Amino acid sequence: MGLKVGITRDERFLEHKTGHFHPEHPKRLEAICRMLDRQFTDRLISIPPEPATLEQMERIHSPAYIKRILKTADQRITSLAPDTPISADSYMAAWLAAGSCVKGVDSLMSGVCDAFFALVRPPGHHAEPARASGFCLFNNIAIAAKYALDRYDLGRILVIDWDIHHGNGIHDIFYDSPEVLYFSTHDPLLFPYSGELAQTGGDKAKGYTVNVPIPRELTDDDMIFLYQEILRPLIKGYQPRLIMVAAGFDAHIDDPIGRSRLTETAFQGITRLLMTLRHSAGDPPLFFSLEGGYSPRALADSVQAVLTELIDGPTASPELSPSETVLALVAQVQSIHASYGVFHD
Ligand SMILES: [Zn+2]
Repeated sequence: MGLKVGITRDERFLEHKTGHFHPEHPKRLEAICRMLDRQFTDRLISIPPEPATLEQMERIHSPAYIKRILKTADQRITSLAPDTPISADSYMAAWLAAGSCVKGVDSLMSGVCDAFFALVRPPGHHAEPARASGFCLFNNIAIAAKYALDRYDLGRILVIDWDIHHGNGIHDIFYDSPEVLYFSTHDPLLFPYSGELAQTGGDKAKGYTVNVPIPRELTDDDMIFLYQEILRPLIKGYQPRLIMVAAGFDAHIDDPIGRSRLTETAFQGITRLLMTLRHSAGDPPLFFSLEGGYSPRALADSVQAVLTELIDGPTASPELSPSETVLALVAQVQSIHASYGVFHD
């Protein structure tokens, strides 16, 4: 049965300007909004964004760093990191992006929707407590996850990061916390070059980080198979009360930064899995927040595939033909994590 799906979109996310040649440009969201207007009129619940509170921001970011971002208000294009330019209204877009994610959590918890997608810029998963990085200013998902733990006493949140870059910000922030289980698939040869398989969580949270570096040749079938084999025992064993997805689409074959070869079929397939596998944990709500994805057309197609699956799905599972490579990778992940007891067989 399809889900009640909420989204946040807002023109103000286009006011974060990064310069003509930067891949993280407003055209990404413009393409998504055109697609939404064509395909989803009246099929989505609109959740207007609100800025996060200072207190919510300070649960993740240092006061000095937040002050530094606010000081960039009304400045012309400046740079927070070598790859992270910002403009006069970037602070406002970033603050609103974090707030959209917080409000999305409230919308899910109050039952306004069963699934929520924050279509925001700038992205967040590389942002560190005191440092902008990799096009990210504030760590949108980390702020919303922390808020969900504090406000709703959830205890267990599963964060899935399918962006092709490792979400080092989310990874580091929750590395020693069993309250957030972070599962990432990423290309280890791309920025930020982190996220080794052997990094499985800090002393207080062994087994609560699942890093899976993936080879570039994985197919849609491989990717869906990998997620199926890892998420099935993980969701059953961990019993998350909220599932959050750092939804970047730069593993798409047409992406100018990623080097992988997936299509929107993979993202649709993983969404289908989430809709069905969550039954084993009592149907926790599904939260998505936009991260990377730098081909506007591939990005719009991929978001469309995810939203269609959420609204009309779950569609029938296709027969998968996994490669030897992915079979070996799954076996390796399972053997490393077998001893921690988080996976449930
Ligand atoms: Zn990315």
